[in-house]
Amino acid sequence: MKKKNIIRVCSVCKQNFNRQELIKITCFKNKEEKLNIILDSNYNIPGRSIYIFKSKHCVIEAKKYKKKILNKLKRPLYPELEKELEGILNYLIENLPENSCPLVKSLEVS
Ligand SMILES: [Zn+2]
Repeated sequence: MKKKNIIRVCSVCKQNFNRQELIKITCFKNKEEKLNIILDSNYNIPGRSIYIFKSKHCVIEAKKYKKKILNKLKRPLYPELEKELEGILNYLIENLPENSCPLVKSLEVS
């Protein structure tokens, strides 16, 4: 069976990518009705979500705009979620390769 290409936009550089090239961060309610922000590696957790291209560059940029991301997740007023988001972004910054996003590459070339 042919795998469908699912295209999503990086919240940082606003470019389209195949979903597998993006990190999905989802805000969902757990069984205790508590909100959590998690790394949705299998792209299958329901809830408000954002996508960030898998590069250190885009994640570092995303870290500067945590409030905007929380806005996109419709949870701007939850400081504990901001901490969770920061934890995820820090984890990603430590673990992602140095490669920058295509937008940066195209800017360097031109
Ligand atoms: Zn990006």
